[in-house]
Amino acid sequence: MSRIDITKVLDDEQNTEVPEIDSVSSSFLSDVQQAISQWNYVNKRTPSKTYKPSCLGCNRMMVYIRKGYEQDDTKSEYTGIGMADTGTRRHVAIQEVLEHMKDMGFNWEYLDVGEYVKKKHFEGKIPNTKVTDYRGHECHLKDDDLHISCMCDGIVRNTDTGKLYLFEFKNQISFKAQWRDKIDKSHYSQIIAYATLLDLDEVIMLYENRDNCELKCPSVYKVTSEDKRLFIENLRKVEEMAQENIIPAANKNSGMCKWCDYKSQCSKDGGAMKICDSSVSTQANLGLLQ
Ligand code: SF4
Repeated sequence: MSRIDITKVLDDEQNTEVPEIDSVSSSFLSDVQQAISQWNYVNKRTPSKTYKPSCLGCNRMMVYIRKGYEQDDTKSEYTGIGMADTGTRRHVAIQEVLEHMKDMGFNWEYLDVGEYVKKKHFEGKIPNTKVTDYRGHECHLKDDDLHISCMCDGIVRNTDTGKLYLFEFKNQISFKAQWRDKIDKSHYSQIIAYATLLDLDEVIMLYENRDNCELKCPSVYKVTSEDKRLFIENLRKVEEMAQENIIPAANKNSGMCKWCDYKSQCSKDGGAMKICDSSVSTQANLGLLQ
């Protein structure tokens, strides 16, 4: 096709009026959107009563999860479900490649986290960390002492230096990913948690732009022993509150509220810390523990 022909096709495309969608297609579209939402709703799992990396920025949410509070009875938008699904599937694809990098001659090895944890136990380290399950290449970690569980993306080893790095992958919408030359601050608590559970100090974060699959890898993040100490200290503090039925103050500035599944409970509990005991009036306890 000549250049003139191509220009004409593009002009025609731009000048074409958007056709009205017929009723069959619009009803099919609406049904598929609702079905995605409904399928997600009926298959929604009740979270286990352990702290999760996704809740570490809000102590109140941590207590809700630990105490097994009811989540909001709402259906997620099909777009949000699709975005999460894209992230999950891209994790699998990237991890599959990592697994074969060493065989292809690259100086990176993707370690089996289960074997790594066994070796650490043998050395007398991280005695409470357990690998409880594998989902594809990801593994589920649990620490019964800290009451935390998480899905870890893995550990990579540079075969030239022998250094080990916690590996974490994030698939982000373009407006977040395009500036991703630094690690997103909202991911700090999560990587500190994994590094603590696995006794690792350095983290490689790989970010992918969801629109064009561009990859970015900010400088290695170094997790200090102070980071780990503060992380454990906060977990212990929240656990104490959970055991004493104290609802911590809401952290509305965490940026986590939009995705939080406990918005109804949180608004019922208001902004103040209080003793949460069904035998005592909620109102009576408001503000007791500011
Ligand atoms: S709604 Fe916001 S403040 Fe309340 S529990 Fe959820 S994340 Fe925390």
